[in-house]
Amino acid sequence: MEKSRPTGEVILQSNALVTVLLLLLSFILGLTSPDGRALPPAPGEYPITPGEGGSLGELRRDPASLRGKVIVIDPGHGGPNPGSRGVGPKPEKDNVLAVAWDLKGMLEFAGAKVIMTRDGDYSPGGPKADQLEARVQIANLSRGDVYVSIHNDWNKNSSITGTTTYFYSPDGYRLAASLQRSVVGELRSRSLGVRWASYYVLKNTAMPAALVELGFLSNKQEANLLATRSYQTKAALGIYHGLVEYFSNR
Ligand SMILES: [Zn+2]
Repeated sequence: MEKSRPTGEVILQSNALVTVLLLLLSFILGLTSPDGRALPPAPGEYPITPGEGGSLGELRRDPASLRGKVIVIDPGHGGPNPGSRGVGPKPEKDNVLAVAWDLKGMLEFAGAKVIMTRDGDYSPGGPKADQLEARVQIANLSRGDVYVSIHNDWNKNSSITGTTTYFYSPDGYRLAASLQRSVVGELRSRSLGVRWASYYVLKNTAMPAALVELGFLSNKQEANLLATRSYQTKAALGIYHGLVEYFSNR
């Protein structure tokens, strides 16, 4: 005699896109994290244990703190500028754009206003513009509350892996520290720390600014991960949690 089929979930599991959407939905509803761990019961404030990126004492995380905030998301490179090509299946410009779109959805769901310096495969400001100037101009004209630039890293030593977040101004440090801690926690990547750098976009944006290098395209294993949708969504989730932490503790 044939056993009755379990309904729903078996069919859904066969469709990767549906799985990702369900994970996103369950995350948004506060049910589980993407890898299935149970999250703390209430979506409101709860303390977290400071991890990578420096000890800042007891921190709160309240997604409502994002409501009405203007977040500038800057996916690096684009158009004729692919960024790092590395050894993975996709160039940096494609990987970081996918993360940016995931992040935009999460932030808008939480009530933030999102400005993207590019939302497709083109150079910000058009082919004739200086793309770095264009990114800064878009950020400053939008009067964003924060600026987050998303990149993939490269090193001639192919064994190097890990996540680094850069800041320039003192007010960018706390943002960078929150992003680094959360992204490393979500990706379970090696933390290469929060670092100071005089990058043009960090130096010239008028709001707290940070630049996240999610991982290395020069390392085969990390390059492959950075090109997968699940890893990109986790990266977005890490940035999202970092922004929640940042705005909850100001
Ligand atoms: Zn880059």
